[in-house]
Amino acid sequence: MRGQDDMQRSGIGMTSQRTRERLIQRLYEEGLSNARVLEVIRRTPRHLFVDEALAHRAYEDTALPIGHNQTISQPYMVGRMTELLLSAGPLDKVLEIGTGSGYQTAVLAQLVERVFSVERIQVLQDRAKERLAELKLRNVVFRWGDGWEGWNALGPYNGIIVTAAAAQVPQALLDQLAPGGRLVIPVGSGDVQQLLLIIREADGFSRHVLDAVRFVPLLNGPLA
Ligand code: SAH
Repeated sequence: MRGQDDMQRSGIGMTSQRTRERLIQRLYEEGLSNARVLEVIRRTPRHLFVDEALAHRAYEDTALPIGHNQTISQPYMVGRMTELLLSAGPLDKVLEIGTGSGYQTAVLAQLVERVFSVERIQVLQDRAKERLAELKLRNVVFRWGDGWEGWNALGPYNGIIVTAAAAQVPQALLDQLAPGGRLVIPVGSGDVQQLLLIIREADGFSRHVLDAVRFVPLLNGPLA
């Protein structure tokens, strides 16, 4: 007989391996194609990134509330943005704006050398830190601050990912992109925004307008 703890750890029930496999199958059918990204999503326990009361929905392909008016991103969007970041090859340093639950952070940490993650709500970031420590993901450093400013002291970055919608592309993030570096960011001030991929080329920036997306807004300034 398994004890309650064992069951929780192996995620029997709503978070069972079968439920998780179904999510991966669905992401594949929706067009995600990077096998490494799908494998990392498969093995990352998303139910640990939401409140226990929502754990049974953790492997649905949907955003879920994480408190403070914020949401954990939809798995498809996490996969899509990660694929866009990685599609030109492996990345060394990646800056993430909007740690939130830390789920996207955890996915990235398994695919790139180092992740630098900025969040304006300290309690969310503290919880994210604990989760990553629990999962023994040690190649991440966190900063409580304003994502509009990026994290200049530790840049430039080969990849930058923003998980909240900006009214316009923050200049600081463009400045902190290394040559060849890629920025994936939802841009727009309405309910629906455009996902952009911006690449720092030898002679300036190229800008690719991709999917219509729905993110919470990138707000101003840090908050306790
Ligand atoms: N990737 C996260 C998404 C969280 S939602 C996850 O999957 O859990 C977006 C996050 O961006 C929120 O946590 C919000 O607090 C944060 N955010 C909003 N504006 C910000 C800003 N200016 N600087 C840093 N973080 C910001």
